[in-house]
Amino acid sequence: MPSSDALSKYRQKRDFRRTSEPPGGKTGSSEKPLFVIQKHVASNLHYDLRLEMEGVLKSWAVPKGPSTDPREKRLAPPTEDHPLDYADFEGVIPEGEYGAGTILVWDTGTYRNLRLEKKDDGQSMAESHTDGKIEVWLKGRKIKGGYALIRTGNDDRWLLVKMDDDEADARRNPVSTEPKSVLSGRTLEQIAEQAGG
Ligand code: MN
Repeated sequence: MPSSDALSKYRQKRDFRRTSEPPGGKTGSSEKPLFVIQKHVASNLHYDLRLEMEGVLKSWAVPKGPSTDPREKRLAPPTEDHPLDYADFEGVIPEGEYGAGTILVWDTGTYRNLRLEKKDDGQSMAESHTDGKIEVWLKGRKIKGGYALIRTGNDDRWLLVKMDDDEADARRNPVSTEPKSVLSGRTLEQIAEQAGG
C-alpha cells in the first residue's frame, strides 16, 4: 500500500470532480509488477512509461516513445508517481485540467527486474531507481525485451534505451506502425470522439 504521501503530487494536480482519471487506491502484487505505456496527446505528444514500484507507478514522459533499436537514446523526463489504477485509464482529460488531452493504453504487460537477477548486482527496483540505473525486461504486446532507464548527470535527466538482446530490432518502429490501444483497439481519434459524444 503506498503511503498517502506517495500520490500527493498526483492528487494536487487534479480536480477529480472534473477529470475521469482515478484518484487511486488499488494495491498491487509485487510478484508480477506491471508496466504500461500510455500515448498522451496533451500540449505535446508523448508516451508515458510507467513501472509498478512500491505500490505506485513510477513515471517518465518519453516524447518519441520507446525504440526497438539499441542505438537510439530516447529522452525520458520523469513525472509524478501515478496510482496503480491509472494503468488501464484511457479517455479524455478535459480542457483546463492538468494534462488536458487524449490518452490511450499503447502497450501494457508485466516486467522483470534484470538487476535483481544478476548475481553480482541484486538491486531492487527502489535501489535501482535511487541509483539512476534501471534495467527491466518488458513483456508487452508491442514492446518486449530489455530496456534501460538511465539518469545522466545530476539534473534528473533520464534516457530510455533498448538493451542489445534478441528482441532488439532496428527495422521495427512500433510507435508509428502500431498506433492503436492494446486494451480497446481504438485510435486516439476514436477515443476522443466517443468521449466527446
Ligand atoms: Mn502524460
